[in-house]
Amino acid sequence: MGDYKTAEKRLRAICSHVFTKPNKFAEELIATANKIATPGKGILAADESIGTIGKRFKAINVPNTRENRRAYRYLLASTPGLGKNISGVILFEESLFEKMPDGSLLVDGFKKKDVVLGIKVDKGTRWLPGTDNELYTQGLTDLDKRCKKYYEFGARFAKWRAVVKILPNKGPSQNAIVETAHSLARYAAICQANGLVPIVEPEILMDGDHDLATAQMWTERVIARCYECLRLQGVLLEGTLLKPNMVLPGADCKKKYTPADNAAATVTALQRSVPVAVPGITFLSGGQGEEDATVMLNALNQPGLGYRPWSLTFSYGRALQKSVLAVWQGKKENVEAAQKMLLLRARANGDANLGKYSGYAATEGEAFKSLYVKNYAY
Ligand code: 13P
Repeated sequence: MGDYKTAEKRLRAICSHVFTKPNKFAEELIATANKIATPGKGILAADESIGTIGKRFKAINVPNTRENRRAYRYLLASTPGLGKNISGVILFEESLFEKMPDGSLLVDGFKKKDVVLGIKVDKGTRWLPGTDNELYTQGLTDLDKRCKKYYEFGARFAKWRAVVKILPNKGPSQNAIVETAHSLARYAAICQANGLVPIVEPEILMDGDHDLATAQMWTERVIARCYECLRLQGVLLEGTLLKPNMVLPGADCKKKYTPADNAAATVTALQRSVPVAVPGITFLSGGQGEEDATVMLNALNQPGLGYRPWSLTFSYGRALQKSVLAVWQGKKENVEAAQKMLLLRARANGDANLGKYSGYAATEGEAFKSLYVKNYAY
């Protein structure tokens, strides 16, 4: 875990040799990143684009209207006690600026609970020319202007998702790895220049039949390359968070592994690639079912895996909201029960961050439903 005071003491030295010009937001960036990485807490990723939330709503027969999106996100924001295990929320732009019928802001509920506001700033993925259907992420144009506006509106951190595929028998191309690392670093530098803590998210998809060792090797290489580029672009690592995939075998891999095997592979990959200066690693759920994602996080926080100087916690989208949506069904009378479900999963993951999850949420809602979708786009 990052220690704010220690980080603060190192600040001047860091600034003098990393930045050509000191970042006026440096102290705030460090404080925000450490706040999000508070033990027992993690991030609610509710930043589904309009298209993606439409897919979620379709599964529960709710029309994808602005009103329904507002009602659902308000359900999340108004959940009593949400701040106990949720330190930050990632929003889609529409939600950050959304007003309720009484003129208040949708995000006021999060703010009152001391949940830090985050914003998805990437603009989705496109085919990376010259590659076998690999992807690059769009959104650098005018990113500085957008970050400035989001900061003025109260956002304090951002997310940018890059997607990497392990192609059969060859893995990701060098082109895709270099593009991923460079664009994440450029995004991170622009965010920090405008006061937002960047969540660096190089997601290696589960698609494929590769084994655990292969997933570990590529995770290590991709993350290591990201930090080379972040360093090159003068990013203040103490004011960032990493959002990686957990190291898991490919979805079609025939070999079976335990959560302890996966946790050992994940921690090894991180130990070899993530600098100690980074305060928190906030994993995506990546298509794991709710319970599997919680059990994996718990396994990552067990003793015996060696040095882990970062808070290993969650930044889940699907694995925090699947059962919430299933309970809600778009009906007012289900809001309270849906909020209880959200609190339950948040508590389970908060306990897993401390390595103390005992399995009490396993039988609730849709905890065991697989959320894996091939070629997933967020
Ligand atoms: P999942 O937890 O559904 O993989 O989503 C993570 C994410 O990137 C959302 O911000």
